[in-house]
Amino acid sequence: MTDEREFIRETIRLAKELGLIKKMGQHLLVNVNILKREVEYAYLNKNDIVLEIGAGLGNLTYFLAKKAKKVVAIEKDKRLAEILEKRFKDFGNVEVVVGDALEIDYPPFNKIVSNIPYLISSQITFRILRENFDIAVLTYQKEFAERLVAKPGTKNYSKLSVACYFYAKAKILEYIPRTVFFPKPKVDSAVVEIIKRDKPKFDIDEKLYFKIVKGVFSYRRKTLKNALINAGFSKYIDSIPENLLKERVFKLSPEDFAKICEIISSS
Ligand code: SAH
Repeated sequence: MTDEREFIRETIRLAKELGLIKKMGQHLLVNVNILKREVEYAYLNKNDIVLEIGAGLGNLTYFLAKKAKKVVAIEKDKRLAEILEKRFKDFGNVEVVVGDALEIDYPPFNKIVSNIPYLISSQITFRILRENFDIAVLTYQKEFAERLVAKPGTKNYSKLSVACYFYAKAKILEYIPRTVFFPKPKVDSAVVEIIKRDKPKFDIDEKLYFKIVKGVFSYRRKTLKNALINAGFSKYIDSIPENLLKERVFKLSPEDFAKICEIISSS
């Protein structure tokens, strides 16, 4: 226990020394209990290779490395990557990869646990959804997490929710307050579990599906009919059932969008 707390204290000291406080976008999760819970949510064992995106100073890496066979820690900031190398040299199971998690190829892994850089939540999520893995446990800004897991008809239901559902099952495991980060950010967070489906939910033209979803969600409170007209799909309206056309976009389920996609692709 003292080792753990000591490691986190050292993280905070390093963060101060590096002036991370003034740098936007780098907020470190420094609560030992929450860090440990994140690791537990992923059921890590000594067969697992864990991918960590945006490892920072390694406060989550520390707990991952204790449970997993290996941690692949991706960090864009060279200074931080060097510190990670030093801090985990004796662990022997942490591979630090210096690079942009949106650009580089990932070494093999089977689980993902990360407190991700919030600025790139959306891009990272889409990137991850195309990878294969058993489970991902990710900390997001609360609002993003809520949009990711939202159900049809709710206020947070969005194209992000539909996209996530297409590839995976996602749920919020817990909320975390801004007070457990250093320096304290202006937003709250949430831990999300993402489990990939064996194959995409619908056997349809994926590109078209996302084009339709993206198009109509620009008009989420309009009826599907008006949204389709505004999004440039007017010529397909006659082929779509009246009960769907009358419905507000945000009330349509992913299954409804799949039906609409099939109608459009076959007309
Ligand atoms: N996971 C750590 C740090 C979170 S801060 C913790 O919980 O304490 C986010 C980290 O992601 C920062 O260290 C930042 O340098 C890094 N980062 C930002 N954009 C990145 C990208 N595109 N690829 C890899 N790392 C990135």
